[in-house]
Amino acid sequence: MFTAKVSFSKAGENLEAMAERVIELLAAWDKNGQIIGNSWPIADIGGALEAFVQLPAVDSLGAVHNNVWATRAVEALLPASYSVTVLGRDPCRVGLCACPSRSAFVLFTHFLANGLPPVRCLDCFDPVALYTLPHPEGEEYLELLQWAADYSACDTLQMLSTTGERFGEQQLWRHDSSLSRHGRSLCSQLELLTGVPVYYYLHKCRSRSRASELQRRCPSCGSEWRLDPRLHLFDFQCRKCRLLSAIARDVA
Ligand SMILES: [Zn+2]
Ligand SMILES: [Zn+2]
Repeated sequence: MFTAKVSFSKAGENLEAMAERVIELLAAWDKNGQIIGNSWPIADIGGALEAFVQLPAVDSLGAVHNNVWATRAVEALLPASYSVTVLGRDPCRVGLCACPSRSAFVLFTHFLANGLPPVRCLDCFDPVALYTLPHPEGEEYLELLQWAADYSACDTLQMLSTTGERFGEQQLWRHDSSLSRHGRSLCSQLELLTGVPVYYYLHKCRSRSRASELQRRCPSCGSEWRLDPRLHLFDFQCRKCRLLSAIARDVA
């Protein structure tokens, strides 16, 4: 992950109108996975506006990665222009998947993900820059980002709150919760687009005992699904139902 500065020349325009167009471009890049996180500080430095963003890779803002919405937002800026300066690697954030090919993906996020892409490569388990995946209909990853926001809200409820804790837990764990049904439908869509399996992760927060955890079967089809050795943080995998899970955190 890299921190970058994007400088926009002012081109004699009224500042508020210009700032609005800059925000539109940043939002288009965000929904296309070219920038990470939803906070983009902007500074008026006299002759230019400067925005500070985080990038999955040094070339993430290259025009070749723009979708139709980012291209339109760039055109709307004219005659103003912009330049990108990569300031350096962010030492506090993980790197993104650099595998030359990927054999499978998993939809995965959590309440501390802070804007990390919600798709992980199942080979290296690093997050995948969304714009490197085929575009869904509409050329944006908005649905994936909305699912990640819902997941994060449910994870926050079960981790940090005294209200809705059980609701959050059930949404994360049950394969047929509304959160899981939405996520699994996104997995199927992504699998069609990429041609490789896309798994959905069921997060179990609590259990009576480790022994009962080890006896768990796939909650969707009832098959044996224990992984030995485990894969990354996963102890269970059902290839047929495209589900992954791990031994409940409190007895792991
Ligand atoms: Zn990878
Ligand atoms: Zn199954």
